[in-house]
Amino acid sequence: MGLGDSFVLNEFMFCTDHGREYCPSCFCDYRTGNNYQIELDEEVVWRFEDLFMTMDDRPALNAFALGAKIANKKEETYKCAKHGTVDCTTCFDWKKRVVQLMEVVERLRGEPEKAKPSPPTIATTAAAKKGKGKVVDVNDVD
Ligand SMILES: [Zn+2]
Ligand SMILES: [Zn+2]
Repeated sequence: MGLGDSFVLNEFMFCTDHGREYCPSCFCDYRTGNNYQIELDEEVVWRFEDLFMTMDDRPALNAFALGAKIANKKEETYKCAKHGTVDCTTCFDWKKRVVQLMEVVERLRGEPEKAKPSPPTIATTAAAKKGKGKVVDVNDVD
């Protein structure tokens, strides 16, 4: 299998060797084309563009990691491991998979901030210390 070979699975394109949408080894990036195949809700696009800058920079899917197996080498068809269905719309529900993957990244990126509701900026840290100091002062008076 040569460089730049690709296959189409349920309208999404992946590199033949690795099953990737975006592959540094094969020098390919099918995300832009694949994005055209799914109609993401405006709300979803807006939410994630904030995170990835553009939808073309979203995390890439890996068809093989999602259980894609070659069904017919000559016809270049792929099936899922779970149902054995060619172009399985359940296992390869790309719209769902893309959103899922982006949600994972969103969660990972969001975690440090969520763990600390007030970002530890110098101003807020100082304010928090000041606030605590006041409480201690009141207690001391009591
Ligand atoms: Zn590849
Ligand atoms: Zn399936």
